[in-house]
Amino acid sequence: MSKKRFGKNDILFIGGILGIALLFMLLVFFLQNKEGACVEVTVDGKVYGTYDLNENQEIPITIDGEVTNVLTIKDGKAKMTDADCPDHLCMHQKAISKEKETIVCLPNKVVAEVTGSKEKQEFDSIAR
Ligand SMILES: [Zn+2]
Repeated sequence: MSKKRFGKNDILFIGGILGIALLFMLLVFFLQNKEGACVEVTVDGKVYGTYDLNENQEIPITIDGEVTNVLTIKDGKAKMTDADCPDHLCMHQKAISKEKETIVCLPNKVVAEVTGSKEKQEFDSIAR
């Protein structure tokens, strides 16, 4: 029986290195996204919610108990992926990722707007 080239300890070691590398990548990722761009959804002029652009998620927008629009955040971009409006114009608007870019669904009065850092949002709300 020849000794195995990679023992259990080696695997643990390699796993550890990979784990540290992954942690490091995550750290870099979070540092790069420190500004924390968000997308703010308003319905009929009222804030429906604010969502982190760095987090892949689907946001069903419910009006009067019915989901009228679905905003999907993927890879730092927000896009209207579903809507029950007759024209579907909002679904054809390009994905937004930069501050002040918007997707508007006129029939449903749904607006998604990219906002800057959280600090800035607080400043905005004070200014209002
Ligand atoms: Zn629409």
